[in-house]
Amino acid sequence: MGIRTVEQYKQSLKDGRRVYIRGEKVDDVTTHPILGVSVDTVAQGFALTASADPEIRKLFVVPHPKTGEPINRYFVTPRNAEDLTLRTKMIQQSIELTGGLPFGKDIGTDCLNAAFVVAGQMGKKQYQENAMNFLEHVRKHDLAMCGAVTCVKGDRSKEPSQQKHPDYYLHVVDKNKDGIVVKGAKIHITSAPVANEIIVVPTRQMRESEADYAVSFAIPANSKGIVFICRAGRGQWSAHEFHPDYPVRELTEAMIVFDNVFVPWDRVFMCGEWQFSMLIAYTFATFHRFTAISYKVPSVEAMAGCAVAMAEYNGLEKVGHVRDKLADIAGYVETLRALTNAAAKDPVMYGDIAVPNPLIANMAKLHFSSKYHEFVKWIQDICGGILATTPDRKDWENPEIHDYLEHYLGGSAKFSTEDRLRMIHAAQRMVCSNESAFHEVTTVHAEGSMAAQKMMILAESPLKKYKEKAKRAAGIKSA
Ligand SMILES: Cc1cc2nc3c(=O)[nH]c(=O)nc-3n(C[C@H](O)[C@H](O)[C@H](O)COP(=O)(O)OP(=O)(O)OC[C@H]3O[C@@H](n4cnc5c(N)ncnc54)[C@H](O)[C@@H]3O)c2cc1C
Repeated sequence: MGIRTVEQYKQSLKDGRRVYIRGEKVDDVTTHPILGVSVDTVAQGFALTASADPEIRKLFVVPHPKTGEPINRYFVTPRNAEDLTLRTKMIQQSIELTGGLPFGKDIGTDCLNAAFVVAGQMGKKQYQENAMNFLEHVRKHDLAMCGAVTCVKGDRSKEPSQQKHPDYYLHVVDKNKDGIVVKGAKIHITSAPVANEIIVVPTRQMRESEADYAVSFAIPANSKGIVFICRAGRGQWSAHEFHPDYPVRELTEAMIVFDNVFVPWDRVFMCGEWQFSMLIAYTFATFHRFTAISYKVPSVEAMAGCAVAMAEYNGLEKVGHVRDKLADIAGYVETLRALTNAAAKDPVMYGDIAVPNPLIANMAKLHFSSKYHEFVKWIQDICGGILATTPDRKDWENPEIHDYLEHYLGGSAKFSTEDRLRMIHAAQRMVCSNESAFHEVTTVHAEGSMAAQKMMILAESPLKKYKEKAKRAAGIKSA
């Protein structure tokens, strides 16, 4: 098959999976008012690979390295800087072209790439073959995947084996000649209820006594014992919103419960090799932060654009303090872009697999997360209080009050009142809404907390070299 259509993807989700949202069981995720939005968002990835535009197809579809059959570019295991750069470009273009984040393969392939690296480092032929066979399976059937890494974790100060019960971290509870049985729950998993496959990676480093927690595998979303408990999303536009003529794009996160799930051996990538749990968690984090910084660039560009436009609509584009904030806004966006490009251009090789530069990828993600709220503050400041108090589309359309709004809510005479109002509403969605609060939390936590990024920056930075230079400058010769 190689490349599926939107319709084939949607049909594949009618597979008996167990999904709950707002306390109710969902029979068909494709027609659900909230989950259907996630389905349509992921489906955009399939629309792009089916595009009639040769330039788009060239970016999203590549020939299989052996057979030449068309496959999705996400299924290219990166071998060099060019592969990573093209992956970034594809992620960024997918947002530009669809107005959303068609995250159907990104996190899953971040997990799978990490599994490949670690299988190679372990030198276990069986795991390498399993990962390769699984890759061929997803290539052939063009499957949507989610990446399930974050465990629920219970008491954060305690190791997995010291918790009140053993299931706060996903672990192996049984093994036989056919496979393993796993129990636990992974949380916050993006697009999980609308994926075909779930790829599991340990959430952290495990000790020898926690070998049962060092487990990585892939499993179909409708497997026996898998239950998705979803967060509530926004659903479609409300009639009160000013919105452009494109549909809402959104992905739903879910907690995935693994209630004694059987996984056949040929889908296992790690089982008990606790010594490699840190490497797989660490390598996944690097790939995933690289994916994150790639998709964040177009998102923050659009947010920055609201500040630029609102400065003009309010007639303030030449005012000193506004220009000062616009410089900070541009600096924030362009630093992120530069670091993202640099992480792709300077990969670290594990065998023949190119891993994005871990130091730079973590610096980029930390830059994005640690300064995001300030970035939002600059935009809120430039836009003005109307971000919070603006009348809505229904007011604008009511002939009894329309003329008051037209008369009083204008800004610079160069622009229409309606355009100013539309821009206020776009900015409101991005920096003053339920959705924007969701993104503020996502910025802090998704792809790992800031403490996790600092840990990796410390591990990857040449601190010893810095110290040597200082000692030389100070004339200190001792060790
Ligand atoms: C919108 C969204 C989408 C996501 N998508 C995915 C996904 O697709 N797949 C996936 O696997 N995960 C996903 N995540 C999960 C994300 O990676 C986690 O939220 C993140 O790793 C933080 O974990 P936590 O939420 O459990 O927070 P916590 O671990 O509770 O962290 C809260 C704070 O406690 C600190 N902390 C925690 N433990 C310790 C400790 N032992 N010592 C010191 N400090 C500690 C943290 O640094 C942080 O400051 C997503 C998260 C969000 C918000």
